[in-house]
Amino acid sequence: MKPIDYQVILEEIHQSIQRQAFAGEVASYIPELAKVNPQKIGIHICDLQGGHYAVGDSNEAFSVQSIVKVLLLVFAITKVDYAEEVIWTRVHVEPSGTPFNSLVQLEYEQGIPRNPFINAGALVVSDIIVRSCQDAKTEFLHFVQSLCSNTRVHYNEAVAQSEKATGFRNRALINLMKSFGNIHNPVDKVLDFYFQACSLMMTCRELAQTFLFLANQGHTYPEQQVIVTKSQSKRINAVMQTCGFYDEAGEFSFRVGLPGKSGVGGGIVAVHPGQYSVAVWSPPLNKKGNSAKGMRALELLTTKTGLSIF
Ligand code: GLN
Repeated sequence: MKPIDYQVILEEIHQSIQRQAFAGEVASYIPELAKVNPQKIGIHICDLQGGHYAVGDSNEAFSVQSIVKVLLLVFAITKVDYAEEVIWTRVHVEPSGTPFNSLVQLEYEQGIPRNPFINAGALVVSDIIVRSCQDAKTEFLHFVQSLCSNTRVHYNEAVAQSEKATGFRNRALINLMKSFGNIHNPVDKVLDFYFQACSLMMTCRELAQTFLFLANQGHTYPEQQVIVTKSQSKRINAVMQTCGFYDEAGEFSFRVGLPGKSGVGGGIVAVHPGQYSVAVWSPPLNKKGNSAKGMRALELLTTKTGLSIF
């Protein structure tokens, strides 16, 4: 079989999505995010042969937002004693079919979030992390920096403060869960950590590099350092596949066919186990809060390469 020329494919995708007009808006419920240039587009692929392929604004840092929920889960798994028992009794692994910040299921499911990638679930994971760290913000940042071998990755204080000032739904979610006994720390301490984590600034290149271990059965590439076990890597990818895009998880799976995770900063990361990791950035979001052009770019990637996990 002829090897796939990812660079040529990325250039075709870049041209195609630049030309296409998509209805979509940059997130503005976190005021600081509304300042981003909606024209930005970047894509970066890292493969397991050591290849790096990139187009557009792939070296410009943006706010990763909910993409961080995967890294929070991974950090909790690596950090906490009996992590999986602790996590999976307090957060489930079912798709929610509801928006990322929805409150409705939490009331009748007694404060147990459907999965770790909706806000409620990530807040419980954050609670677990805060409990097991002396200084959760610093330890988590170092963890992400080591995953992508890059100490320039940093929090964006202005974004974190902006969300702190306006994060009313997250406050409602965490208070509701606290009333059910599923938050063990003071709510402000957990929110503070969660907002800070969401404010992480990373480039497409850094994100693709960071997520490459999930394409490599839980080991970093090329160092082969064990981050999580093969089984844990499978589980994390499985939850991304079914829950990474909230009430659009089915659509993403249908169109793209890879495990992935989006964020309201306009980023999407996807993983092809055994092959590559890819990060895309285009700030305008569709109605479900996922990058409109980002989804299209990844759909084109699996179509043009003829490869997905299915
Ligand atoms: N920090 C954002 C929030 O909690 C993350 C949401 C997202 O990216 N979908 O609302």
